[in-house]
Amino acid sequence: MKLNCKKCGNEINELNLSEEQKFEIWGMVKQDLKLFAVKKIIDDFGISHKEAKVIISHINSEYGKCNRCENDELESENTECQKCGAFNYNFKEPVFNSEFCSHLEYRLDFNNLGIESVQGFWCDGVDCFPYDLKSLSKENIEKNKSIVTRAWIGKGGQGIYEMKIKFGKQSVDNYKNGLSLIECIPKRENRNWIKIEPENKRIQVSLK
Ligand SMILES: [Zn+2]
Ligand SMILES: [Zn+2]
Repeated sequence: MKLNCKKCGNEINELNLSEEQKFEIWGMVKQDLKLFAVKKIIDDFGISHKEAKVIISHINSEYGKCNRCENDELESENTECQKCGAFNYNFKEPVFNSEFCSHLEYRLDFNNLGIESVQGFWCDGVDCFPYDLKSLSKENIEKNKSIVTRAWIGKGGQGIYEMKIKFGKQSVDNYKNGLSLIECIPKRENRNWIKIEPENKRIQVSLK
């Protein structure tokens, strides 16, 4: 499908991105790494630098918010702004995102586990870029029900752990439907959802 952006007049290519590509490209735009995003588009789609730049300049970094004006009520993906006419890809925010990872980080309570060696441990971050971006596909979540990423854990919060995040029924459903996973994180007081092996630098958490 070819569209014209009414704001800048450029022809817009509709993108068919996998979850993994969307996550990566959107993540780069959000972190203001637009040059890397342009390069990735050129590499993945074999298009010219100019076309890739046009694509990236129409990816708005926040769902709903127009790239070119104050309008923050864009309602669907691949949409034209009602106010200024600019085309916005308007990607829905990935479900496995930095907001979820910060909530998970704050919910981890190691003093509660009854394990002497992890007393005083805390978590300084959960990486929202898993080792294998393919694991973010809906097919993977349905089949393997897990994502493996890094987390920073220890007395200074600095040890690098391999964290396996296991999905339960509610989180698989939410993931499939593009809904937030935050409500699927068990309560702090609940100690059964965290399994930690400090000697192997490994941790496993089970979502609801
Ligand atoms: Zn435009
Ligand atoms: Zn606009």
